[in-house]
Amino acid sequence: MDACQNVEADVEKILAKYNKYGQKWQFQLHRFISTLERYKKEFESQGSGIDHCELSSTILQIKLSIKEITNEHRRWHSDVSRVGKSIDKNFISDYTEASNKKVFKTDHEKEILNKIICLHLYKDSKWEVAEEFLKEVGLTIDDGQKQHYLHLNHIVDCLKRKNTQPAFEWVRQNKIHLDAKKSDLEFKLHQIVFLDILSEGNHYEAVVYARANFNNFLDKQKEIQSTMGMLLYLPNIEQIRDDVIDLFLKESCLSDDDLLSISVNVGCSALPTLLDIKQAICRDVGGVWNENDELPIKIDTGFAYHSVFACPILRTRSSSSNPPMMLVCGHVISKDALHKLERSGRLKCPYCPKEQLPSEARVIHF
Ligand SMILES: [Zn+2]
Repeated sequence: MDACQNVEADVEKILAKYNKYGQKWQFQLHRFISTLERYKKEFESQGSGIDHCELSSTILQIKLSIKEITNEHRRWHSDVSRVGKSIDKNFISDYTEASNKKVFKTDHEKEILNKIICLHLYKDSKWEVAEEFLKEVGLTIDDGQKQHYLHLNHIVDCLKRKNTQPAFEWVRQNKIHLDAKKSDLEFKLHQIVFLDILSEGNHYEAVVYARANFNNFLDKQKEIQSTMGMLLYLPNIEQIRDDVIDLFLKESCLSDDDLLSISVNVGCSALPTLLDIKQAICRDVGGVWNENDELPIKIDTGFAYHSVFACPILRTRSSSSNPPMMLVCGHVISKDALHKLERSGRLKCPYCPKEQLPSEARVIHF
């Protein structure tokens, strides 16, 4: 933003100068043109009986003014090119110095990146692009993952075409998970079916559908009441359909497991700070990452991702031999700390007094 403001200030300065420049010379040039036209007429009518002395002094005046205009124009040129320099100075065209070049060094790391790009394309239903991409980078992806996205996108397409059956089937398969988080999805699906029947003018059928399906939702009295009010005042059904689709995307996690979008967003919000580091500390930001892939300062990107777990008891980083373990009460400590806290085959959580068996703790994967 600062960069835009700096360049804008330079442009404003030139524009202010230009406005004065135009007015000043416009008047002058008009005067010269009318003088020359007057001489032309005099030539035509009087022939050679014209005052040569006056004419030469006018021509000299015009020549001097044109020279001044040319000089000013030249100064103008350098002012305009200075804006170009200001753009180069304020905007960074090469961001590679802000990146950590070590990140994609090995084939394994490149493969992870390519997989993430491919899953993003799957998520967006860009099947052909994804296949071509996989071919070019020489990668294969587990068919189950593709089928997963294919299935979810098929449900979304059906919802757009007023076919709710695949969505109901998905809800039936995931009922336990949806009920646990008190999801509205099933009710909203019934609501959209009710509204679709209603929009075709079949009031009686809509009421029959409502009677048959809404009585399963005892906790949704208010929503049912307002839905029944739609018998009189039909709402914007397409808006409600879009809301149902959004809800499905959210519940199926289709909308928020897009690692590529998350990475790009995190990168964009961290970029200004990384560029500040580059200017303040060193030329190459890649060099300031330490061996644990951490930066010397904390950057708040608005996303809370902890790929590293530090044990709150032993103050050590987790590793494959010392992974984070979740206790029965939900508190997490490292495996080493768990063994240290074990007394006669039992364990007392260091955060809450819950007593448990060490074998009940589960490994957590980040
Ligand atoms: Zn606890």
